[in-house]
Amino acid sequence: MEIEVKEKNENEMIFILSDVDVAFANAIRRIGMMEVPKIAIEHVNIIKNSSAMFDEVLAHRLGLVPIVSDNEAIEALISNEDCDCKDDVNNTNGYCSKCSVSFTLIKNTPGVVYSKDLHSNDPKIKPVYDTIPLLKLKDDQEVELEAVAIIGKGKDHAKWMPTTVCTYKQYPVITFNDEKELSNDVVEACPNNILKLNKKTKEPTVQNIEDCTLCKFCVRTSENKAIDVGYEENKIIFKIETDGSMTPKEVLLKVCDVLNSKADRFIEFF
Ligand code: SF4
Ligand SMILES: [Zn+2]
Repeated sequence: MEIEVKEKNENEMIFILSDVDVAFANAIRRIGMMEVPKIAIEHVNIIKNSSAMFDEVLAHRLGLVPIVSDNEAIEALISNEDCDCKDDVNNTNGYCSKCSVSFTLIKNTPGVVYSKDLHSNDPKIKPVYDTIPLLKLKDDQEVELEAVAIIGKGKDHAKWMPTTVCTYKQYPVITFNDEKELSNDVVEACPNNILKLNKKTKEPTVQNIEDCTLCKFCVRTSENKAIDVGYEENKIIFKIETDGSMTPKEVLLKVCDVLNSKADRFIEFF
């Protein structure tokens, strides 16, 4: 297998996998969406809320605020599922300081309440972005609440999904029939401007082939069948975009860990 990184920044990564089958790429996709641990708000105790927003809606919005879940943050907590606090009869909350992070929000001045107003008891584990609007307060309105975040997985709720995009497509292959002339209508039909036609020679060319979505709109437009679009069976373009709670590289490393442990369990079974 070969990997070529095409684009990479804090929240987005595009890479090309060669010599892999679709099942492998799909395993990366599914684990990247469903099984990478992430921290999100799960319990909300609303003490005061005289705003126009219902308590349930506010709690739901808080759950969707991306919380820093990089390696350091995840390793600072244990999973609530594995924590012994759930068996403690004196602990009626179902969580403790080992498996959760607490936030407080107190605001009684008019204006928009933002994610930066959520104060964490762990300075490292806080909202990724400061400027996510949570609710709006008018004169004489106030909000006071406590929120508790725990580690979870996307398969339980989308708020624990670190990836906003985790997708792949097979590598496009565009072929022209040399005996037929490609019309300008076909070139213009492409929504992604992949096709170009030399005005003098009428020679068709392809640019930025990796942007081709394999929609085949060009093929359907070409009445004389001057173009065909297919794909390479074992070459995949993969794209990962995160909500900022962790980097795409961290997502991929976690995917490898999960895939490894699944393979180990499978081997142990036999
Ligand atoms: S398949 Fe779609 S995106 Fe690709 S070249 Fe044809 S029209 Fe453009
Ligand atoms: Zn606990």
